[in-house]
Amino acid sequence: MTVKTIQIDTLVVGAGQAGVATSEHLSRLGVPHLVLERKRIAEAWRTGRWDSLVANGPAWHDRFPGLEFDGLDPDAFAHKDQVADYFEAYARKFNAPIRTGVDVSRVERNAGRPGFTVHTSDGVIEARNVVVATGPFQRALIPAIAPQDGAITQIHSAQYYNPQQLAEGAVLVVGAGSSGVQIADELQRAGKQVYLSVGAHDRPPRAYRNRDFCWWLGVLGLWDAEGVQPGKEHVTIAVSGARGGHTVDFRRLAHQGMTLVGLTKAFNNGVVSFASNLAENIARGDENYLALLDASDEYITRNGLDLPEEPQARELLADPECLSNPLLELDLAKAGVTTIIWATGYSTDYSWLKVDAFKADGKPQHQRGVSSEPGIYFVGLPWLARRGSAFIWGVWHDAKHIADHIVKQRTYFDYRDASQRQAESADTHLQNVSLMGAR
Ligand SMILES: Cc1cc2nc3c(=O)[nH]c(=O)nc-3n(C[C@H](O)[C@H](O)[C@H](O)COP(=O)(O)OP(=O)(O)OC[C@H]3O[C@@H](n4cnc5c(N)ncnc54)[C@H](O)[C@@H]3O)c2cc1C
Repeated sequence: MTVKTIQIDTLVVGAGQAGVATSEHLSRLGVPHLVLERKRIAEAWRTGRWDSLVANGPAWHDRFPGLEFDGLDPDAFAHKDQVADYFEAYARKFNAPIRTGVDVSRVERNAGRPGFTVHTSDGVIEARNVVVATGPFQRALIPAIAPQDGAITQIHSAQYYNPQQLAEGAVLVVGAGSSGVQIADELQRAGKQVYLSVGAHDRPPRAYRNRDFCWWLGVLGLWDAEGVQPGKEHVTIAVSGARGGHTVDFRRLAHQGMTLVGLTKAFNNGVVSFASNLAENIARGDENYLALLDASDEYITRNGLDLPEEPQARELLADPECLSNPLLELDLAKAGVTTIIWATGYSTDYSWLKVDAFKADGKPQHQRGVSSEPGIYFVGLPWLARRGSAFIWGVWHDAKHIADHIVKQRTYFDYRDASQRQAESADTHLQNVSLMGAR
C-alpha cells in the first residue's frame, strides 16, 4: 500500500457545525485548507441524538448568519434532521473542501520545522495549523456510582432514541438538563412511570412577553458572558423546543405523574438513594427563572419597548407531593424500574492529539480557542470564549476569531527581511534566465 502525503496550510478535524463554520471563514479569507470528517457532515445531529429531538432555540436564532432554514417558520424549532440538512446545505453553499469518511488518528508536532504531521485513515497530511472541531460531546459520561451488577438495563442519553426501544417497566432518568428532562417527558407521555433525578439547574422561561429566551439572553448580553459564574460550574440548563417549545416546569411534570427525586447519590443492593436537595434545586431553578423575568422587565422599561405584560408568568404551580415529601430511597425492583437513563453529560477525547495544548487536568489550554501549542486551535467547546460557544449561533463567531488568528500568523510567517527578499528575487531572476535559455 502506498502512503499518500499531502500538504495543506490548515487542516480542520471534524465537519459538524464548528468545522463548517471554520471552513467558511477560512475560505472567505483565502486560507488553503481541508476539513476531514470521519463520518458525515453534521453526523451528531443525524445519528447521535434521539429521534424526536428538535433544536432548543427557534429557527431564526439557531442558525448561521449566512443562511435561513429552508421552508421553516422562523419561530419554529427545527427537527434534528433539518439541522443536519441545514449544515450540509451550508457547506455546499461555499463549496467547503470537506472529505468525509476520513478518520484522524494522530497529530504530532514536527521536529525542527513548522507544522504538524497528521495521520489519517487516508494517508498522511502535513499541515501548518490544525483546528480541532471534533465536538464538545464525544464520550458519554456515566458517573462511577452506576450499579455494576447488570441486573438493570442502563443507557446513556446518547444511546436513547425512542420509548419503544425500552423494556416494559418504569424508568429512572438521572439528570434533568435539557436532555434528561425532555427524555423523561417523552417517556411519561408514552405511558411509562418515570422517576427524574433533578440536580442543580437553570430553567429560563421558553418565552416571556412575546420574546423567546434566546432573544432575551441576546439583548441582555448573557450569551456573551465570558465565564461560568463561580458556583455554577455544575449547573445544567433545562430548556425544550419540543411540541412547539415550552418552559420546563418540574412541578407540572410532577402533577402529570412524574416522580421527582434529588441528586442520585448511590446504589446499594438494588436500592438507590437520593440527596435531600430536591426542594433546594427546584427553588434555585425558580430563582433563575424569576431573575430572567425581572431582568427582561427592566430591559423593557429602560428601552420603552411596547411588549405585552405577562403577569401570569410569575405564578408557580403548587408543590407536588414528591417535592414536599421527597423520596430519599427507591428499591428499583419493587418500583418496577427496568431501565436507567444517564443524562449526565459528556467528556472529550483528545488521545489522538499528541501536542502541548493541554492543562494538567487534560482540558485544552487556550485563549478563545487559540491553544498554548502554536498552530493548534480548538473550536466549538463550551465556554470557549463565551456562553454561546458550543451553540450553533455562537460557534460561528468563535470560528471567525480563529480564522482571523490563522491569517495573522500567516502574515508573520510570510515576512522576509531585506536580505531574504534580495536572495529570493535573485533566485527568481536566475530561474527566469534558465527558463529563457531552455526555450
Ligand atoms: C442533545 C443535544 C441537543 C442539542 N441541541 C442544541 C440546540 O438546539 N441548539 C444549539 O445551538 N446547540 C445544541 N446542542 C449543542 C451543540 O450545538 C451540538 O452538540 C453540536 O453538535 C456541536 O457541534 P460541533 O461541530 O462542535 O461538534 P459535533 O457536531 O460533535 O461534530 C464533530 C464532528 O467531528 C467528527 N470527528 C470527531 N473526531 C474525529 C476524528 N478524529 N477524525 C475525523 N472526524 C472526527 C465527528 O464525527 C463529528 O461529526 C445540543 C447538544 C446535544 C447533545
